Amino acid sequence: MKIWREARRETVATPGFPDGEFYARKLAEVWARASAAPAYRGIGPFSAGAFAALAPTSREELKARPLDFATVTPGRALRYYETTGSTGAPTPTPRLAEDVIWNTVAVAEAWRPVLCGDDGTDTDDGGAGGERRDPERILSLLPSDVVPVGDLIAQAADYLDLSHLRAYPFATGITGWDRLVELWRGYRPTTVFLAPGVALEWTRLAAGRGLLPELGAGLRRLMLLGEVNTAPFRERLGRWWGAVALDASYGSTETGTLATTCAAGGQHLLTASTHFELDTGGPGGVVPVTAEAGGPDRGQLVVTPLNSYARPLLRLRTGDLVTLGRDCPCGRPSPTVTVRGRASDTLRVHGVDLAPREVEEVVFAAAEATGYLVEVTAGGGFAGLLLERLPGADRGREPAVAEEVLRASKERLGLAWDRVAFVNSLPQLTKSGAAQKSWKRSNVRVLEEAP
Ligand SMILES: [Zn+2]
Repeated sequence: MKIWREARRETVATPGFPDGEFYARKLAEVWARASAAPAYRGIGPFSAGAFAALAPTSREELKARPLDFATVTPGRALRYYETTGSTGAPTPTPRLAEDVIWNTVAVAEAWRPVLCGDDGTDTDDGGAGGERRDPERILSLLPSDVVPVGDLIAQAADYLDLSHLRAYPFATGITGWDRLVELWRGYRPTTVFLAPGVALEWTRLAAGRGLLPELGAGLRRLMLLGEVNTAPFRERLGRWWGAVALDASYGSTETGTLATTCAAGGQHLLTASTHFELDTGGPGGVVPVTAEAGGPDRGQLVVTPLNSYARPLLRLRTGDLVTLGRDCPCGRPSPTVTVRGRASDTLRVHGVDLAPREVEEVVFAAAEATGYLVEVTAGGGFAGLLLERLPGADRGREPAVAEEVLRASKERLGLAWDRVAFVNSLPQLTKSGAAQKSWKRSNVRVLEEAP
């Protein structure tokens, strides 16, 4: 098919950071498509100057009138998705074949070195004298309906010619945890795609039944998707399963995939499929991300997805505060991105502005915990931290671990908790992960008075 060929040709031909000519061509094309949408009517012809002068679109504006940004009505799109509606109403997200195919190819090609080995070929046949490698088997524990992520994993596996199985454990009437245990035993996945919150629940269940060693045997990697997570969390998860845990991708239903993991665990911007800018908040304003280091590396990410058709977006403010990195050991030329979360999601505790990611970094680095809950009093006089113990973990070590969490919090966050304690289980809501939706709702409890 023509679109697949074209997407593959351009993606494979643009492995590094594209040059100015590439961006000028692609931006002119997406600009022309966008000008058909009501929101961008009257933007005039494309030029570098016109692009730089176009006011960025805020996420709130897009969410307030999503269909004004669309070039097709939902019923005329190949696929219809909606965002999960973290704040307010869900956002309708139609996709044309072009949207689906370009995103699949960009993501699959970026994952190829991770899933198929560095030479880009599946080493299924082993070769003369080589050890026969167990072929990849991909298990996706992601939802398949309404949101596009389940489809994306299936399409990427098809594109890379890798075996895959979908089993979302919350598909009522189809898959549940018991069935998943049996599916896992029979299929013996080498790679599992899942959300961090589901990973925690699944780990608790497997640990509680004493199945971690059996189910972890043969598992190579856990590919995390859907929620922002931290390096200490991934290391902890990897140790439990005897596998490597990677942050598979970063993006949103609105923007498509913006970054993907490399084998070294770095999250690299997909610079050939999106034009990236940073709003530094300073006098420099919004500046393009360039191939060379030395420019600004912190700010709000502003994106123009280059291969969007059903809803082209020009200079969308993602709302995500990020830090760019240039020193990933894998040697890929595109910068790595670390999402610091949203400015609105910090919580003031004992005079310290706490970001979700900072708490998670301390908790998962120090404790064998599968969840945590910050407890504060309305007046701010008390701040405690509850840690959820892994079933079967050694309780004798808990006082020392609690001490370590206290020490690390003081040292890294400047925060003195009034109490750090372990509990058997926390509310389900706490499993939704850092910087997800509303951290203040999921991982913070306001107490009436100090316990
Ligand atoms: Zn890398």
